[in-house]
Amino acid sequence: MNYQKAEFQASYGLSSQLPESDRPEFVFSGRSNVGKSSLINKLCNRKNLARVSATPGKTATINFYRVDGSYFVDLPGYGYAKVSDAERHRWDDLINSYFEAGRQSVLLVQLLDSRHAPSADDMQMLEYLKYYGMPFIVALTKGDKLKKSQAAAVCEEFDAICRPYGCQMVLLTSSQNGLGVDQLRELMDSCLEEEQDDGV
Ligand code: GDP
Repeated sequence: MNYQKAEFQASYGLSSQLPESDRPEFVFSGRSNVGKSSLINKLCNRKNLARVSATPGKTATINFYRVDGSYFVDLPGYGYAKVSDAERHRWDDLINSYFEAGRQSVLLVQLLDSRHAPSADDMQMLEYLKYYGMPFIVALTKGDKLKKSQAAAVCEEFDAICRPYGCQMVLLTSSQNGLGVDQLRELMDSCLEEEQDDGV
């Protein structure tokens, strides 16, 4: 995939607005502030493709990017304490209808902060992924903040937590120093190739 060939398509606040599922989709999910926008930008080698916010808790929207022949689907960040019940319901509705729409999701990248144990909201997301049988990997974010000596043990800990939910791999990443980003691109490319082989 040519990751440089990336452009923002639109933000959708209602599941009924989502564009037709006419190409493979890579989905990104994580709690607010985990580093999702930064990782999407890093993958595409762009500064401002996805908005990086210092203050988390924007309105829940699903953002679509066209990247080469695929979509990147940026699910709304969750777990922001100050959102209203109405906003939370809208989030649930958006996410559930995305998963239920039978779209061409090749792989979901679930982002978790490498420095903290998964939150209750993260665990609920893992439950969703298991329930929907969504193929996914975990990208641990902000890996630059870990000591080198911690990295292997941290990955093992997350692996033990996430495997039972169907997680295929845990990858330590950093948008700051690029750790794991090439590996993530390679993995996404190989998922895409598999999908295309199956489609022939
Ligand atoms: P989002 O809400 O999940 O989209 O998170 P953002 O991408 O907006 O990032 C939230 C905050 O974490 C920002 O202040 C980023 O600069 C910071 N951040 C994101 N990725 C990294 C990383 O790899 N390393 C470090 N040290 N900080 C990061």
